[in-house]
Amino acid sequence: MTQTITVIRGDGIGPEIMDATLHVLDSMQLGLRYEDADAGLMALEKHGELLPATTLESIRRNGIALKSPLTTPVGEGFSSINVALRRHFDLYANVRPAKSFPNTKSRFPDGIDLITVRENTEGAYIGEGQSITEDGETATLMQKVTRKGSERIVRYAFDLARRTGRKKITVVHKANILKTTSGLFLKVAREVAAQYPEIECNEMIVDNTCMQLVMRPEQFDVIVTTNLFGDIISDLCAGLVGGLGLAPGANIGADAAIFEAVHGTAPDIAGQGLANPCALILGAGQMLDHLGKPDEAARLRKAVVATLEAKDSLTPDLGGSGNTMSFAKAIAGRL
Ligand code: NAD
Repeated sequence: MTQTITVIRGDGIGPEIMDATLHVLDSMQLGLRYEDADAGLMALEKHGELLPATTLESIRRNGIALKSPLTTPVGEGFSSINVALRRHFDLYANVRPAKSFPNTKSRFPDGIDLITVRENTEGAYIGEGQSITEDGETATLMQKVTRKGSERIVRYAFDLARRTGRKKITVVHKANILKTTSGLFLKVAREVAAQYPEIECNEMIVDNTCMQLVMRPEQFDVIVTTNLFGDIISDLCAGLVGGLGLAPGANIGADAAIFEAVHGTAPDIAGQGLANPCALILGAGQMLDHLGKPDEAARLRKAVVATLEAKDSLTPDLGGSGNTMSFAKAIAGRL
């Protein structure tokens, strides 16, 4: 069956890395069809809104979107388009793999292969209960954790581990201090873990997790955690293995999923063909996994690794003298 994907080309380097990614996907001859949809600054200029209803409708219809980074204008009451997309489609699981890649000048060019599964809709990011006193001296913020939200994210992590043959889940929390919110998350995580006896599960406090990630990252396989901790930890993990140019991410809900690069629109290098397309290409790999094509996803990742290993046409951020499209062509050539 032909799968149609909503393609959001985005802002800044977005269109360049999307061209590169679609070139690579096309070379795999998977029979994918693309439906273009606008979002971000480009949509604001074209349609007068950052996230047009036609774009939401396209994602709803196809259930899958591949998205380049978007610019949310600062100030003027604009709220983040990415957050709006997560809320609209209830994309509760933010899934971010971090894997060592060769020739990336990273701290850990070898030995890391972990996935952070971050709860994407609750915790400190609900945007409720924010207040600041008139004198500007005291600020408050509400956090919300629910049994339902905790259960579905922990279950997602365990099912992911089961599906992909991963052996261990680390539940990251701060239940010793945040007794209600983190406490509930941990309690539910223990209950869910008991239903997956074949998967090892350990618990770790978030501050210790950060230290352990820097010192002995190879001990981690799948990390599952709440929104704020997951936000920080997943960037930490991207930093361990070669930075944002190689970090993909997926936002997954029951009815829709959006695959993307973790980095932003990189306005400093936009339009120059300098952008590294790997993060979005690896995001497309996650998309193939999600579409039930794990062998094709593995083939794609293998071609990326082989291209990095051969230092073939790499972009300047990886020390190469290639450009966005030459890098993509080198990957496509290995498929
Ligand atoms: P950024 O990730 O765009 O850039 C940070 C630095 O990393 C820059 O020096 C940039 O050149 C470099 N970089 C990023 N991606 C790269 C790539 N693929 N290849 C080579 N170098 C790359 O972060 P920023 O400057 O903080 O944000 C710029 C804009 O992006 C802002 O408008 C922000 O709102 C937006 N943003 C969007 C998303 C998203 O849509 N998912 C995420 C983050 C930031």
